[in-house]
Amino acid sequence: MLDIRNLHVELEEDGKQILKGLDLSVGAGQVHAIMGPNGSGKSTLSYVLAGRDGYSVTEGSAHLGDVDLLALEPEERASAGLFLAFQYPVEIPGVGNMTFLRTALNAQRKARGEEEVSSADFLKLVRQKAQSLRIDAEMLKRPINVGFSGGEKKRNEILQMAVLEPRMCILDETDSGLDVDAMRLVSEGVNALRDAGRAFLVITHYQRLLDHITPDVVHIMANGRIIKTGGPELALEVERNGYADLLAEAQ
Ligand code: ADP
Ligand code: MG
Ligand code: MG
Repeated sequence: MLDIRNLHVELEEDGKQILKGLDLSVGAGQVHAIMGPNGSGKSTLSYVLAGRDGYSVTEGSAHLGDVDLLALEPEERASAGLFLAFQYPVEIPGVGNMTFLRTALNAQRKARGEEEVSSADFLKLVRQKAQSLRIDAEMLKRPINVGFSGGEKKRNEILQMAVLEPRMCILDETDSGLDVDAMRLVSEGVNALRDAGRAFLVITHYQRLLDHITPDVVHIMANGRIIKTGGPELALEVERNGYADLLAEAQ
């Protein structure tokens, strides 16, 4: 599903190298977790995949299925089925949640040559998704993220995922922002959307999240590369011993 090879990325601003030959392959139906010390380049990886400005890829490739992600504009990547739940969700005053979601969904359908959904069908779809995720649809009438609590923003992200039905979901969680309730929300959302045709990349600082979302594969990232790959037990090892041994081993 997602295939990243020898990815090298530097900051456009000053040429600082952030990703230094990263390899990562996520299969359909799988959940992979990435953990790693602060400043490893975890967020940079998600931004580069989503196509955010300010980074230049100097070497390597990233494919979603057959699609060369790096050749596409950000909205084309979304249409190809990539979804990034932002670390710091933006507030968009004046734009209702429903309007935003419907616009995003229709843009993707159009790009795929499909018909737009009518407003009645869209309403039905959103209500059904909200209900299956046990999310209050009232929230949808408010401007996007404005005055949302941390938990509401998370709920909103999960609902966006459910409506847009991406093939590849990347969740980049804040290092400290997830309280126990938000963690439960995110994990229930991810688990509900787990599907043979969909894959997840969950970037997290805490093993606790992985108690709820059992990943198939855990990667440790440091200094712009994946330094170790294992199963869920690798996350437990990090929780117990920190990163020091793994970093030394990788030298
Ligand atoms: P992580 O998410 O693993 O904590 P980041 O990807 O946020 O790591 O950052 C990796 C490194 O790149 C850090 O040293 C960070 O300061 C730097 N960096 C990333 N993006 C930018 C940016 N837009 N401007 C300046 N420095 C950046
Ligand atoms: Mg960080
Ligand atoms: Mg980060």
